[in-house]
Amino acid sequence: MIRERFAPSPTGLLHLGHAYSALLTWDNATVNGGKFLLRIEDIDTPRCKPEFEQAIFQDLEWLGIKWEKPALRQSNRQEFYKKTIQRLWGDNKLFACTCTRKDIQIASAPQEGGTTILGPDGIVYPGTCHPSGVNSNNDPIPPNHALRLSMSNVLSNLSTSNTDRPIFTFAENGFGPRGETGEIAITAKDLQTNIGDIIIARKDIGISYHLAVVLDDAYQGITHITRGQDLFEATKIHVVLQKLLGLPTPIYHHHKLIRDENGNRLAKRYDAMAIRKYRADGASPQDIRKMVGL
Ligand code: GLU
Repeated sequence: MIRERFAPSPTGLLHLGHAYSALLTWDNATVNGGKFLLRIEDIDTPRCKPEFEQAIFQDLEWLGIKWEKPALRQSNRQEFYKKTIQRLWGDNKLFACTCTRKDIQIASAPQEGGTTILGPDGIVYPGTCHPSGVNSNNDPIPPNHALRLSMSNVLSNLSTSNTDRPIFTFAENGFGPRGETGEIAITAKDLQTNIGDIIIARKDIGISYHLAVVLDDAYQGITHITRGQDLFEATKIHVVLQKLLGLPTPIYHHHKLIRDENGNRLAKRYDAMAIRKYRADGASPQDIRKMVGL
């Protein structure tokens, strides 16, 4: 049976872009009698607020969406995340990083004629404090450090003499930002150049979006993921983590982003397009569907 999820972060009011994502996920899940699950992604505790969580519940209910209660909350899953981080650390897949944002900026300043490479999390980590060789993590995890995935350690376990050959793939039912669809190949070169040693555990909150989302999708038995095209590149990280942890890879459907009249992505602080604003102005859920092209 199809199991889909909608996974908002309670850091602001849901806007038309969320309405599109939630309704499309709901439609994709229920068209064949599947299940829709809700997950509150509240790992970034300083930015999450209970009133935004309540607003998410109310807005989704108003849109006609139903989910099994209570919704899964990431803030209740910290112990589980910690265990997985410990496991990856013990398997020598992580290293502790002491770099500041500034260190990374300086180290990746473009040389003459070059450009800084931007990955799913901003500047691709330039390797500033990556330990040389395959590190061996016999020591405990040092406190107050960010932990990064050592992409070279991950790739060294795979046969990657031809770095252009796909090492992993995932199925795309929608479209990536450049029209990518069908079977999407992930090459070692792509992972090294455009993804790099991404953060698995942030220094401030001890976890990252990428690891939490992969663990929770597996925990909730998610078979299909519908979400915005802005996360298409991040999916490559998620597939790597799924393979490392022996978890299944769901089928993905990345969708268009709803933009404002100037073509900009809607931000949560842009309350003018909040669902509840339209609701207060007398719009119906059907009107919202029409507005987003559903
Ligand atoms: N929590 C993420 C967001 O609000 C969505 C994550 C996902 O769908 O994988 O943008």
